[in-house]
Amino acid sequence: MANKKENTAAQEAAKKALAALQAKKDAEGGEKEVTRTTSGTTKTKVQHNITHVDQQSSSKEELLAITRANARPYRVGAIILWILAIAFEVLAILCFKKVFKWDFIQNNPGWTISWAVCLGLDLICVIFGSLLWKKGNHLDPASEKNKTRFWLHNNLGVLISVIAFAPFLIFVLTDKKASKQSKTIAAIAAVVALLVAGLVSYDWNPVSQEQMLEEAGISTDAEYPLVYWTKSGGVYHYYEDCGHLDHSIELFSGTSVAAIEAGKTRMCKTCYDKAVREGAIAAENNDSSDNGGDKGEDNTDNGADQANVGN
Ligand SMILES: [Zn+2]
Repeated sequence: MANKKENTAAQEAAKKALAALQAKKDAEGGEKEVTRTTSGTTKTKVQHNITHVDQQSSSKEELLAITRANARPYRVGAIILWILAIAFEVLAILCFKKVFKWDFIQNNPGWTISWAVCLGLDLICVIFGSLLWKKGNHLDPASEKNKTRFWLHNNLGVLISVIAFAPFLIFVLTDKKASKQSKTIAAIAAVVALLVAGLVSYDWNPVSQEQMLEEAGISTDAEYPLVYWTKSGGVYHYYEDCGHLDHSIELFSGTSVAAIEAGKTRMCKTCYDKAVREGAIAAENNDSSDNGGDKGEDNTDNGADQANVGN
């Protein structure tokens, strides 16, 4: 009997502790409320401030014209930076070969430094140009019908990296006047710059026009009436309660066409998997390999959204 009494007392105490914990949680919750999601798990729901966006295009051609226009400033910026990069490479070669007779260079031990500065500026221009180029390709993905063209279009920055550093390397290695030591230093610098630029310029997660249209249901004339996206993210979300949106108060909503017009060309991987699992959307035939790299994009989206909270 005594044991049973003790047990009841212990249960009472546990109940009280639980209630206190719940009250504390509620107090901390502020604007948040606990709700049940479609998957049946309990989750804290974030109150989003949603702005609805109407789609502008009424055909696939009109949509692709909008994505092209979205990408144009980034592509123009990339080409300008790449031209600057090659100009700096030419300067680097001229400095290394001591073509200039400027006093400021001649009276300066900076003969060696001047080519290095030009090569550094060359590297900065290639990298920022490639980042702009990749951003343009994510806003307006290339068609993958021709695989070679698709690869070249996505990785044009890699080709530019070669053009921006290989000639300098050749001029250095074939130079007859420079000392062996300065030739070695310049050659190593050029090879390192070429590798860094090439790795940054390579598109590790390319998007194709076909994937974009299929994922949004546009290629089957079944675009989604309501999806969500953030100002800075690169993807749109099928579910408003997607975990990647937990840190974003300001959301935009609209059709999947409107999302693409706003520059969100892929669906969030988490939402996509969930929507396929729940039968809300049909799975792509070629999905496993194509969507593999998407996780990273979600993370950048989430990271950017988190950064937004601070504003
Ligand atoms: Zn999502």
